[in-house]
Amino acid sequence: MSKVKVIACSGIGKVYGLMTREAVLEVTNHLAPEVSETVCLAHIVTGDAAARAKVEGCDCITVDGCPALCSAKSVESAGGIIKARFRSIDEMRTHRGGDAGTATALSEDGWKIVDEFAEKIAAKVMESVSQ
Ligand code: SF4
Repeated sequence: MSKVKVIACSGIGKVYGLMTREAVLEVTNHLAPEVSETVCLAHIVTGDAAARAKVEGCDCITVDGCPALCSAKSVESAGGIIKARFRSIDEMRTHRGGDAGTATALSEDGWKIVDEFAEKIAAKVMESVSQ
């Protein structure tokens, strides 16, 4: 069985993009490495054959920074089967007043928020592989 693809957007100008990348790496490197892996979104977008082959017809979970949903839209257009869509901006709504850090460095609170976010994503990965 192929691993669930967990794919972060490529946001770099705000903390939301950093949150997506750190959360995805936590899932694929630490929380669920046996059943999940990530794919570079830029490779999917530019039509890299190997990257597209990894998502086409495969279970994918997308993790975007904002409502633009760059990862979800690109993965969908590459033929990925989207099992769940996450947005880091929604995590900040549940931590009102929290300061997650900057586009280049998470704060202590930011790491806690990302840890919780990664747990939610990992739970979806496990749900997806158990179906
Ligand atoms: S989803 Fe939002 S934060 Fe992520 S790359 Fe697109 S515009 Fe940037």
